[in-house]
Parts: sequence; structure tokens; C-alpha cells
Amino acid sequence: MDTKPRPSVPRFACRTFPFERFLIRAVHLFDPRHGVDRDGDVLVEGGKIAALGSGIERPPDVEVLTDLVGCWVFPGLVDPHAHLRTPGYEYKEDLASGSRAAAAGGYVAVVAMANTDPVIDAGPLAAWVLDEAERQAVVRVGQVGSVSKAIRGEELSEMRELADAGVAAYSDDGKPVADADLLLHALRYARGTDRPLLLHLENKSLSLDGVMHEGKWSARLGLRGIPAASESGPLARDLELVRYVRREAKRIEAGEDEAAAGTLAGAQTPVVHLQHLSSAQSVELVRRAKEEGLPITTEATPAHLLFTDERLTSFDQNLKVNPPIRSANDREALVAALADGTIDCVGTDHAPHAPQEKEVPIEEANWGSTGLETAFAALHTGLVLTGKVTLARLIEAMSEAPCRMIGIPEPRLAIGAPADLFVADLAEKWQVTPEALRGKSRNCAFLGETFTGRVRMTVVDGARRFARARGED
Ligand SMILES: [Zn+2]
Repeated sequence: MDTKPRPSVPRFACRTFPFERFLIRAVHLFDPRHGVDRDGDVLVEGGKIAALGSGIERPPDVEVLTDLVGCWVFPGLVDPHAHLRTPGYEYKEDLASGSRAAAAGGYVAVVAMANTDPVIDAGPLAAWVLDEAERQAVVRVGQVGSVSKAIRGEELSEMRELADAGVAAYSDDGKPVADADLLLHALRYARGTDRPLLLHLENKSLSLDGVMHEGKWSARLGLRGIPAASESGPLARDLELVRYVRREAKRIEAGEDEAAAGTLAGAQTPVVHLQHLSSAQSVELVRRAKEEGLPITTEATPAHLLFTDERLTSFDQNLKVNPPIRSANDREALVAALADGTIDCVGTDHAPHAPQEKEVPIEEANWGSTGLETAFAALHTGLVLTGKVTLARLIEAMSEAPCRMIGIPEPRLAIGAPADLFVADLAEKWQVTPEALRGKSRNCAFLGETFTGRVRMTVVDGARRFARARGED
């Protein structure tokens, strides 16, 4: 018997579909990170990309998909930040509906946050959600384990047990880890279990009951503001703690810290991932920390990359997101950071809510917007077609970068690779209407927007999990 301890790996689970055999004809194949950017065909067979190139011969009994002619085929998208609401809030979303929304947006995998009811703070709970995903989800679901028990910020969750159950990362998202000593201990555990720690940055004594960015528009609208320092303050502190833990790891490695050595086998500095960055100050702190070589990664959401606080003049509750959508200057800094890689990933922060939680005065409305179904189209329209971010960089930020952060293999267009891909018509114009959305909730910040570029098909593990005919809603 093999008695070596097996390193636990992140588990991503979804329903098993029978493998399909189909040939997608006359599309553009686009995976520049792996040297693919040309017209051609794709043959999917046995769960894998069986052939890729021009003029692929059709094997007997293989279905030929001709209605995707002229579309683009990309590696499947991966969302490092979604709220799928199972367990406890299934009236907002569940694993079936949330994963359907993901598939409709081109996603092949999503990482679900832990702020459910109960909070995912112990191994059996994480295992239960992942087992449910295996029964219900149409795209792969990874689960986050909380940092603190019940996300109360008082004592650590069962971090080791969560890792053994296959969580993809740790996060108290929805709330910050306010206690510096607790975060320090969490960083040490994350190091020991080889999982990233995802941080929601917020100083609750600054954000208080604010509803939007603190600036000229909050003053004009008479709405309570949340200063940018509510995010950049905790960010500066957390970066200091990462430096502290890194020095500690180096001492252990050098054999200079015998007291800690026994408890931290294979000590490395954990990856710290900064969630939904919103301000120029935060971008600047991250830029400097990366230059220094700190092991950090970051994300931004489509709403923060595309909108500014002036939009709140509509009092649209779906624009009430946490952190708030900030000024034009902040937005510009985020976009530049996404373009140059300072912001590594796009995270949707897909946060479904029921009408009774959103269709109330903005002060009382819950935080959050849905985002899985609109992310690619919104960013293609707002950043790629305007020349601010290249399509190659966008695909990297939405597919490869999240995988690198979590430490899982990235989807790729290559012969023999798992068929995890999506197809989009980059010319199709469409309007985001409640009827066009497939998730359970309709609280989308992009309702009413018209986009260019639409997902037509999503394939996971060699089977179609989503397909839409041209022009169909
Ligand atoms: Zn958050």
C-alpha cells in the first residue's frame, strides 16, 4: 500500500454528459497564448479536441455544425469569483441555474464563494456542495472555503480539512478579514495547504452604510459615499502581512527559524489574490508590490471596468455593488492595469438577488449584480472594440490567468486537450433584456445595454452545455 500522504488538489465538479462527436466548420481559432490564431475547423470527439486546422475530413457519423461559420472559437472561460448561493439561498440562484448562466456566458468553470448559509467553513460542507455540483451543474464548479468560522472573523475555519475536501481557495468574501492576527494565521495555513487566499478588501468603519463611491456624484445625489481608502487602506495592511509571511518563509527555508520549521513543511509564500479592485490607489499599491516580487494576483469586475459613479444618477439598484463603482479616473486606472497585466483576471462577482431584495430604495437594496452571462460581451464591446485591451489579453484574463492563480490546467485549443471551449459570434449585436438571461435572478447592471459579440456555444468535456442559434435570445 502506498502510505505517502497525497497532496490534496482542487476539485471541480459537474454533471457528466455523454461525449459528443461534432465538427465545427469554417471558424476562426483563437488561442494566441498557445500559438493558435487562424481560420479552420475543430473536431471534437471522445471528450477531446481530436483535430484542429484547415479542411479537416469528416469522420463517418460525425455531426457537422455549419451554422457557426464565421464565428470565433476560444478556450473556455473560467470565473474566479461567483456567488452560486447553494446552500441556503437557492431562491436567488442554485448550482443548476448558476451554471446554466455560466455556460450561456462562455464559462466552462466557476469558483463559488463561501458566504452561503451555512457558510462553507468545514470539509464535509465543501464536499457536499461539490457532490451536488456533480449532480446539477452543467459547467465545472469549484468551491471556496471560508477563512473564518461562519465568516465571523473570530477564529479560523477548518482550513486543512477544507483543502482535503478539494476547495479551490479560501475567502471570507462578502466581508473583509479585519483581524490582522487572524489573517496572519490564515496566510500560514494557506501556505501549508498550497491554496490561494482571496481577499475582499474593505474597512467597515469607513464604508459604514454608504451606497456608492464617495465623490462629487455622491455629494450631488445626496447618497452616502464610501471612500476609496476603504479599499486601499486594508490593501496596504494586507500587503505588509504578505511581506511579513514571505520573510518568515525565507527564514524557515534557510533553517533559521527552528520553532516554526516543524509546523510549516515545504514552506512557501501563499498566493494572495485581491478581489474586485476598484480604485486607482489600489492599482498603484498593487503595481509597486508586484515590482517588488510579492506573490499576489488581482481581479476586476466588468462593472468596475466599464462604468463610473456618474451612472448612479439613475438610482439603478443593480449598479449598487461592493466595492462601489468609482470615478472615471479610477476606471481608467483599472482598464490600463488590465491591459498591462497588473490586474491579472476578470472576476464577475456574479451576485444574484431576488426582486424583493433589489427593487427597494437604493439605500436598502442588497449589494451586487449578476455577471456571468454578460461579462464577455460587455468587455468585448467596451474594451476590445474601443481598442483599450486586446482580445488576446482579454481571453488570457478570463481563462488562463484564473487557472494559473488557482493552480489548475488552463483550457487550451490544442489537439488532444480536453474539449473545454466556447464559440462566439463577434459581430452579433444584442440587447441585454430580462428575457435574455438564464440565471434565476435578473439583477444585472447591464440590463438595457447593447453589446457586439455573443456567445453561441459552450462545450465542457466534449459535450455541448449551451447552444444558441444566430439571433435567438
Ligand atoms: Zn467581495
